[in-house]
Amino acid sequence: MAMPNQALIDLIIEKFDGEIMEDNKWRVDGSKPGTHYWVEWHPFHKHYSCGCKGYAFRKSCRHIKKLSESFRNNLHRI
Ligand SMILES: [Zn+2]
Repeated sequence: MAMPNQALIDLIIEKFDGEIMEDNKWRVDGSKPGTHYWVEWHPFHKHYSCGCKGYAFRKSCRHIKKLSESFRNNLHRI
């Protein structure tokens, strides 16, 4: 995956009210106020991981889904 461009990064920050702290790593808000999780893209393994319980149980969660969907949708539009 190519590095996201600035417009895409802005969109993610706006959409998730999150922060991008490092390359390929995003902070997203949890469902409870004041909670947040880290979603990470692993380029080598080509998959996302998340710090929430849903991911721990199912190896997938809504944070990853939302993030990857917004990447996909945005890439189609550009
Ligand atoms: Zn999650």
